[in-house]
Formats: sequence, C-alpha cells, structure tokens
Amino acid sequence: MLTRLRHSRPVGVMRYHLYRDLLLARPRRHSCNICGWQGRPFLTHLHRFVLCPKCGSQIRHRLIAAALEGHEAGTRTPLDGARILHISPEYCLGLVVRPRAWLYVSADWAAADAMLRQDITRMPFRDGVFDTLMACDVLEHVADDRTALAECRRVLRPKGMAILTVPQSDGQETTNENPAVQTPEERATTYGQSDHVRNYGDDFADRVAAAGFRVTCVDSSAFAPAFVQQHVLKPPVPLNAAWGWNHRRVYFAQAA
Ligand SMILES: [Zn+2]
Repeated sequence: MLTRLRHSRPVGVMRYHLYRDLLLARPRRHSCNICGWQGRPFLTHLHRFVLCPKCGSQIRHRLIAAALEGHEAGTRTPLDGARILHISPEYCLGLVVRPRAWLYVSADWAAADAMLRQDITRMPFRDGVFDTLMACDVLEHVADDRTALAECRRVLRPKGMAILTVPQSDGQETTNENPAVQTPEERATTYGQSDHVRNYGDDFADRVAAAGFRVTCVDSSAFAPAFVQQHVLKPPVPLNAAWGWNHRRVYFAQAA
C-alpha cells in the first residue's frame, strides 16, 4: 500500500514540486524569460543545465522570446492581434504567443494536444490566411522540407512572418543530407537523433530564402553577456558531438 502510494502520480507531482520550488529555487542565479521561474542552473536535457523546470523551455524557446522582444523594439510586432499558426506547438511558446494572438491555431502531424492534424507539406488552409507562423525544430523531421517551406510561404500573407529554428551543427557550412542514411540507427549516428532526416548547415537561410522569404537571423550574440547567462541563451556546457547544436539561431523569415 505504502509502496503504491509512493509511486502514485499525485505523490510524484508533489515530490517534483518540492524539488523544483525548494531545492532548485535558491540561489536565484538564473531565470526563465518565458515563465519567470528563478533558481539554480536549469535541468539537463541533452545539454547540461538548459531546461526550465517550470515551463519546459529550452534554449531555442527562450531565444525566440528574447528575440521577439528585440523585434518589437523595431517595427510592428508579429504577435499582437495577429492570426498565428503554431506548428508542433510547445507549451512554453504557447505561453508567449496565445495571449497576444487574435486567432491562434496549433497544428501537428501527430501530437494529440494540437488543435489540428496536418502534414506541413500539404496544409489545409487557404493562401495568405496567417500573419505569423512558428515552426520550432520541425523541418529537420520533414523529408521534403523545400515543399514545407513553400507551404509556409503560401499560407502567410505578403509581409507575414515565419519564425523558424532548426538544429545546426557548429561551424557546418552546408546541410548534411545523405539519402543512403535510412534507418533510425543510422540517422541517430549521423544526425544526432533517430527521427531527423538531415543536419542543417549555415546554408539553411538560403533554403528559406529560396521559398520566397527575406531572412534575418538572431542569436545569443545579439544580447548582453549577463542577459545570456541569466536566461541561459547558450549552453553553459557545450556538447562535444560532431552534430553539436550548441549555437542556436532564430530565423525571422518575412514573406516577400
Ligand atoms: Zn520557464
């Protein structure tokens, strides 16, 4: 009876909250710029100390939130009052996006918590119906990513904005995409994850531009070092693997 209670879900949730809110909460050296959680170094998820224990944000999500703030300092925000399509929706980015959208649609090919099931290469929307589209670490899973990018362009109005991230190997100029790599084991070895079909290089921006976008890019170098450290916008402990993914970028792709 006691063993069953100890392993039950309510007790597990209580233990996790005690861990997160008491053990991890002091000293408050780091904070999440999405949910506001403050505490010690974040939890480990692939990289050490990068995962927010409250909202689950990782480096790319916090970088997007920070980059959006910077973006808003410029011209019109791509979020406020916008019709937004969030592909493969993450809970943490939903916190940033949903309250500000006029219309929010989430879609995914498999995730049960998305509002719609869809294939990103054949989206069930009319041309130009969205102002903003977010696809965070989606395209590396898609066999025909050029068609997916063309679809992203199609469903956006002219001057609409796609906000994109993909894992990229550090210092790799051209995308690594080998048709001979087929099995999950080969993909894991070559690309770093069994369900990835390529590892992008610095030419990712060219691939986005070819679909009809004007591309700008933001990374952690756009922010003060203290801000980067506080919100963990780059890995405190870089990965040594060939497919490193240590340097994350946010691509703002404006539809031509
Ligand atoms: Zn958080």
